[in-house]
Amino acid sequence: PASPAALSTPALLERRQAVLGKTYMFYNEPLELVRGRGCMLYDAAGKEYLDCYNNVANVGHCHPYVLDALTRQAATLNTNSRYLHPEIVRLGERLSATLPAHLDTLVFVCTGSEANDLAVRMARLISGSEGVVITENSYHGNTTTVAPLSLIDYDIKDKPGWVATVPPPNLYRGLYGQDVNDAGRRYAEHVTQAAQKLVADGPGMAALMIDSIFDANGALVPPPDYMPLAYEAAKKAGALVIADEVQMGFGRSGTHMWGFEAFGVQPDIVTMGKPMGNGHPVAAVATRRDIAEVLQKQTGYFNTFGGNTVSAAVANACLDVLIGEDLQGNAARSGTWLMKELNGLMQRHEIIGHIQGRGLFLGVELVTDRTTRGPAKFAARWVRERMKMLGVLVSSTGPHGNIIKIRPPLVFSLADAARCLETLDRALSEVPADLRTVAA
Ligand code: PMP
Repeated sequence: PASPAALSTPALLERRQAVLGKTYMFYNEPLELVRGRGCMLYDAAGKEYLDCYNNVANVGHCHPYVLDALTRQAATLNTNSRYLHPEIVRLGERLSATLPAHLDTLVFVCTGSEANDLAVRMARLISGSEGVVITENSYHGNTTTVAPLSLIDYDIKDKPGWVATVPPPNLYRGLYGQDVNDAGRRYAEHVTQAAQKLVADGPGMAALMIDSIFDANGALVPPPDYMPLAYEAAKKAGALVIADEVQMGFGRSGTHMWGFEAFGVQPDIVTMGKPMGNGHPVAAVATRRDIAEVLQKQTGYFNTFGGNTVSAAVANACLDVLIGEDLQGNAARSGTWLMKELNGLMQRHEIIGHIQGRGLFLGVELVTDRTTRGPAKFAARWVRERMKMLGVLVSSTGPHGNIIKIRPPLVFSLADAARCLETLDRALSEVPADLRTVAA
């Protein structure tokens, strides 16, 4: 057969489906990307797109400094963590220095799923219990252990008895809203109730696994007292708290390196991945020394590719860029500006019901009506597709699919933010009337 590189996009799609099956792809018409630089992506026809979605390319697509570190290390040595090498030591030390002092031990893996899987194993070993509490509509990965903690993506009919869910602390569209003044406390009480249920049912509670921004809930930010109270409830129940930083880690909040820091809480385990290698598969679990030692003593742990020499060099280079280019500061600057302007847009577009998020992770919730708050899922999909046609990539997400998700590489400039805003403004003006009133 001809080389797939020589095929048109529809022919390539056909060949892909023949060999990979009909797996989910972004957009109604799949996008064939061939090149990226900074916040820009280019398709096979040479069209340019502003990437407002890819948080993996945290320091920008194909950053030359990261590429240089990758290729130099790949040309010198790539081997596993059972040999002594300075890169992995340096990476561990640097990451540990950004975390609270008690999180002094790193275990390197390849994906966020592996990190969360291992974190659950650690929590079970330490607590002697099995149960895990998560917020509804969360995503924590794809392994056999963590797929049942990712019910938004995995349609698991019989949720295992060791999984308990609590409502996400959503003040716009949740059990408790802005009309009550103690919503954070009320939401956190569900963690205690979930712990009691897990104890009564047998598994007990090993862990609360919690995002530092509720990504799959469309960049939902909890009320300020929620996290401290939820952490406290979990710890009172004898469970460990696992902060899933796969989304918010590495400066995205604009205010902190790690999302949990914004709430003044102290997790027992922190998991990180996606942005850590800017596209290279590297992830990690940070925890207390006593927890890591129990793991090594009772079951041992080795990961052939986790923290290999090239991965460690890449992750170190990403940290250099993150710090050297002050990308956390950039997330604060561009994110704050965009949030303010999006709030301004609300005055002209009745279809925007609510805006949430922090730093460079923002969610624009579309509604059929501001009073009934009907989720305008079809309008959100239309806006996503229209913005793509106009050269700006965003997604639509959330349990009702009605939230436009903006989560660009952290090199997103003010000019990029302005282009994203203008394109969203235009797409919102053009939403066909019949889609504006249909709820999900
Ligand atoms: N946790 C969160 C919060 C995530 O968003 C993801 C990926 N979407 C994961 C874990 C799993 O990471 P990976 O796809 O690298 O296995």
